[in-house]
Amino acid sequence: MAGEDEEEADGRMIVWPLERLARVMRAREHEGGLNPAQWEALRFLARANRFSNSPGALTRYLGATKGTISQTIIALERKGYISKSARAGGRKTLSLSLTPKGEEMLKRDPWAEVAAAAQDLGGKTRRRLHRGLSALLAGELERAGLASFGLCTSCRFFREKGRMQDSGGPHLCMLFEHPLTQEDSGRICMAHEPRG
Ligand code: SF4
Repeated sequence: MAGEDEEEADGRMIVWPLERLARVMRAREHEGGLNPAQWEALRFLARANRFSNSPGALTRYLGATKGTISQTIIALERKGYISKSARAGGRKTLSLSLTPKGEEMLKRDPWAEVAAAAQDLGGKTRRRLHRGLSALLAGELERAGLASFGLCTSCRFFREKGRMQDSGGPHLCMLFEHPLTQEDSGRICMAHEPRG
């Protein structure tokens, strides 16, 4: 039906469920004794690579003030969900990690239920949704001048199988000059720069 197709193609009809979903989920993110910023910090630490699990990277990722992030980190540490340690290599920044209790808490993340529902969509719908939403996000991040925090596989510094002989390989990050495991390459990074 032409009318139905036109309605489906209307950008406003695509944005409306996104906007409503974000609102509904924001309300649910007050469950479990956490607030939305604390949930976001837990999710970030579960996804971030070893170059990005710092308070500074978390501040950039959330686009929040240093004060807000500092309060978020203090609260999560007090509740036993994250731990802080000195970063390897003598640098003065801190490294943040999820504790087993934090990992357990993430299983109750309200967004995990949405992810499971998305998994139940057909494969074609999932692929199209992923492509479309990723393009919308990339455009908005560029407009706002915010870091992409993407995966190695779409980064201009990534060399696939560039460190085949290295025990930390098989891939290479040309920026940090570090080998990357397959698992590393599936994590988000504060230094990610999309390929041109
Ligand atoms: S290849 Fe890019 S995304 Fe991956 S660790 Fe290096 S800078 Fe980060």
